[in-house]
Amino acid sequence: MSTPPSDAEARRAIAPVICYPTETLPRPDLSLYRAALAGARVVSETLAPPRDAASFRVEAGQFFRISCTGGPQVGDLNLWNAHDLGERFYSGKTRALHGTHITTGERMWSSFPTLRPMATVVEDSLDWYGIDAYGGSVHDVIGTRCDPYTGNLLSGSQYHHCCHSNLTRALADATGLSLHEAEPHVHDVLNVFMCTGFTRDTGQYFMKASPVRPGDALTFLAEIDLLGALSACPGGDCGSEHSSDTAACHPLKIEVLAPAPGALEGWESPPPNGYDRSHGR
Ligand SMILES: [Zn+2]
Repeated sequence: MSTPPSDAEARRAIAPVICYPTETLPRPDLSLYRAALAGARVVSETLAPPRDAASFRVEAGQFFRISCTGGPQVGDLNLWNAHDLGERFYSGKTRALHGTHITTGERMWSSFPTLRPMATVVEDSLDWYGIDAYGGSVHDVIGTRCDPYTGNLLSGSQYHHCCHSNLTRALADATGLSLHEAEPHVHDVLNVFMCTGFTRDTGQYFMKASPVRPGDALTFLAEIDLLGALSACPGGDCGSEHSSDTAACHPLKIEVLAPAPGALEGWESPPPNGYDRSHGR
């Protein structure tokens, strides 16, 4: 280990600066969204079975709601532009803009070059949780998704019902792509209902039993036409382990809701990002 410089403590004591202050981010009109949601009706319902995934489609200007049913359960969510799988949820940039976990009023942003809101959280029944004494919170954009490759790396296993494989099968079924064609489109997720953080002493990613209970829900406005896939993680409430058939698992419900005509008056689906893409040439 290197010898600390004489001013090591002074260097550590420098106050942090927020990388991306959000004051200039376009803000969603939450009161408009909420009023539209209040009058919306359910137009479709899908169930992601335990240790499996389901896909769903939502039109821009409709809502989708993910609900806990049966018992505490974590869900891994992928979103794509319904007309272009190349535009997909960008977990890293969402984290840079909103922090490690997202809640009401925050957004799931899409990949470059579009970088626009794909979905906005309109209601979060777990927004009371905040940040606990361990630094844990819910709905993270810091994890990736449980996958069979990491399991194989760490323990030599061949487990097929990790969220990565569940999402791959769901996307293949939704699009007609083969599994090998679908797999590269699966991406880092929003960990719905999952309670996670980083340990203070070692900086390691941790999980703990989710505070979610039957009836809890996370509701979004689809800002663009979306294809979504949600996996009911084999970790169940993620209180002990994932990547196995050990944990108790429950289905997750996905409802699509259509607002009354005119209820989103003034709202417009966001255009792609305004950067000219000339990259200095
Ligand atoms: Zn998982």
